[in-house]
Amino acid sequence: MIDTHCHLDAAAFDADREEVLDRARGAGVTDVVVPAVEPAGWERLLAFAAAHPGVHAALGIHPQALPGIDPADDDRHLADLERLLGRGGAVAVGECGLDGPTAANGAPLDRQRAVMRGHLAIARRLGLPVLLHSFRVPDAMREDLERDGLPAGGALHSFSGSAEQVPALAALGLHFSFAGPVTYESARKPLDAARAVPRDRLLLETDAPDQTPHPHRGSRNEPARLPLVRDAVARAIGATPDEVDALTTGNARRLLRLGMARS
Ligand SMILES: [Zn+2]
Repeated sequence: MIDTHCHLDAAAFDADREEVLDRARGAGVTDVVVPAVEPAGWERLLAFAAAHPGVHAALGIHPQALPGIDPADDDRHLADLERLLGRGGAVAVGECGLDGPTAANGAPLDRQRAVMRGHLAIARRLGLPVLLHSFRVPDAMREDLERDGLPAGGALHSFSGSAEQVPALAALGLHFSFAGPVTYESARKPLDAARAVPRDRLLLETDAPDQTPHPHRGSRNEPARLPLVRDAVARAIGATPDEVDALTTGNARRLLRLGMARS
């Protein structure tokens, strides 16, 4: 299994990061993709990934981090991002994207879109896939992706859209990653969405330390919980856990080119 979106660099793991990785491996998680959230963490994350086989870095600026960053520095950060990504050592651009609540809370949507499009341009120039955050602004996201394109593909992480939105997004070349919400007892929408996703575009993630799966909600999430997400996706699409494991591992390896030269 591959956890395609896990914030293992978060302070929540400072006390026991190595043990968390050991437990993940013990649970069958061979690879963990760690998307950065802000420029201050990029170099440290690259060093951590380089020192840990099976840990893969992505570099980007999370839209929720923008209120804490001076807008006057956005272009400089994007230039740094391209320089660091160009040196190698990361498998994707991200996390980047658009966040509805943050637009009302310190980072207007125009700025978010400009920063995300800066990431997309870098991905295009470097031939890298993009790990996208999209929350409650589906039209803006689809418009920007239609305009800019994703030559090396991308993934919508913790996909929160509807089954009806899937075909147009799949046509853009996107993968769809599912997290803890598919395990919630009230889950309907993400399960319907998972069923609508073409099987060669399905991915799994924990989004740890957030989005803890049932029955552990309320505690810190970690990549060792990925089998709970896999099992819920398996039930939703009528496959066995082993089938979902093989399917999503292959999809993640192809999208992120893991196990190939750049990983
Ligand atoms: Zn994230």
